[in-house]
Amino acid sequence: MTVPQKTNLRQGLILNMGQQVAHHLTYWSHRLLDQLLPPRCLSCGTGVQAGGQNKGRICADCWQKLDFLQGPACLCCGYPFDFQVAASLCGKCQVQSPPYDRARAALRYDDGSRRMIISFKHGDRTDYVDFFGQLLVQAAQSLSLEQVKSGVIVVPVPLHKKRLGKRRYNQAALLAQAFAAKKNYDYCPDLLARAKHTPPQNGNFGRRKRNVAGAFRLRAGYDQIIRDRTILLIDDVYTTGATVGGCAKILKRAGAGRVEVVTLARVC
Ligand SMILES: [Zn+2]
Ligand SMILES: [Zn+2]
Repeated sequence: MTVPQKTNLRQGLILNMGQQVAHHLTYWSHRLLDQLLPPRCLSCGTGVQAGGQNKGRICADCWQKLDFLQGPACLCCGYPFDFQVAASLCGKCQVQSPPYDRARAALRYDDGSRRMIISFKHGDRTDYVDFFGQLLVQAAQSLSLEQVKSGVIVVPVPLHKKRLGKRRYNQAALLAQAFAAKKNYDYCPDLLARAKHTPPQNGNFGRRKRNVAGAFRLRAGYDQIIRDRTILLIDDVYTTGATVGGCAKILKRAGAGRVEVVTLARVC
C-alpha cells in the first residue's frame, strides 16, 4: 500500500472538499430555486402540484371560484342569461347592434378572477399568459372560427404608447399572441394603433363611448390585408363593450368582413 505524500494528500483533500462544496452548492441552489420557484397557484400563490390539475397553474380552491361563462348567453354580445331565452339577444343588443359581430368571454369578471387579471395587467405576471391563452381558446369555441375559409386574423386592442411605456407590455397583445399560436391563426399586433391617450376607462357606456371615439386608427397600408377577412379582436376585460366597439368600427369601415371579439373576462 502506498501512502500518499503529505502534499498530494492535502491536494486530494482540497480537491475532494472542492468537489463536495460544489456538489452541496449545486444541491442547495436547486433546493433554493425549488423553494423560490415551486409551482404556485396563479391566483392565491399557494403551492400546487406540478403537472397536477390544470398543469399546476391554479389550485382547486381558486379554480372553483372562477365563473366560466359557458351557459346560455346573448348570441351577439355574450351577456350571460340565467336560462336560455327565446329572443337569444339581450335587451341592449335588441335596441342597438354593437359595431362588432359577436363577443365571447371566458370568465365573469368578479372576485374569483379579478386578482389574477389585475396581477397580469399591472403586476408583471406575464407567466399567466399560457393559461389565459387556453381559456381564450375555450371561450372562442362557440364562434366556430374553424369554418372561416379565408382564415382569421388575430388582433389585440392596442395600448397608447404612453401607457405602453409605463406598463412595458400590452397585456392584450400577449393574450392575442398566445391565442393565435395555439390556434395557428395569423397574428397582427400592429394592425390597430391607439391614436389618442384615453383616460382610464371609468363611467357608463355613453361616457366610455365618447372616450374611445377617434381613439383608434388602422395603420397605413393594412386595409388591403383586412378586406373581407374575419378579424378576431382580443382584450383582457370586456366592460361596456365601448373599447372593442371603437376598434370594430374602424375595422369595418376599412372593409373587414367580420369582427369577432374574445376577452378573458367580462363585467356582467
Ligand atoms: Zn389558488
Ligand atoms: Zn347582447
